[in-house]
Amino acid sequence: MTNRTFAIIKPDAVKNNYSGNIIDHILKFNFKILAARLTHMTLAQAEGFYGIHKGKPFFEELTNFMSSGPCWVLALEKENAVEEWRKTIGATNPADADEGTIRKMYATSLGENAVHGSDSNENSAIEIGFFFSDAELIACQ
Ligand code: ADP
Ligand code: MG
Repeated sequence: MTNRTFAIIKPDAVKNNYSGNIIDHILKFNFKILAARLTHMTLAQAEGFYGIHKGKPFFEELTNFMSSGPCWVLALEKENAVEEWRKTIGATNPADADEGTIRKMYATSLGENAVHGSDSNENSAIEIGFFFSDAELIACQ
């Protein structure tokens, strides 16, 4: 699992028609897409996925936003995937993100920041499992 990470193209980026550009960026940076699906999370799903942030002041805003429209969920593979994907997306706040990062190019704001990336190998396994079965991943090998 250490070479896998989980990504979301968030509702702001889908709404702004950046899905294609972001998928292109994923492939250009040599991530292999193991599985991908367009989905519209329910509020309960968003609350479950972001359970780690429960109790934080932005939790309600975050879960409302993530259930506000369709998003792409993706399982990605690359050597050192978690760290590489975090580097590719940039800082949480697009105002702090480096030039050339996905958030710098496509994020709307701190809350609506275009993409998600797992923060550890442990969480990447949990997050991939939240949306994909093993069979769906294997089917793409
Ligand atoms: P990251 O997505 O970079 O791992 P966090 O895990 O800290 O960042 O936060 C999860 C998501 O919650 C962020 O991507 C962003 O959409 C939202 N968020 C984080 N901090 C804030 C904040 N202070 N105000 C509004 N939304 C926030
Ligand atoms: Mg995080």
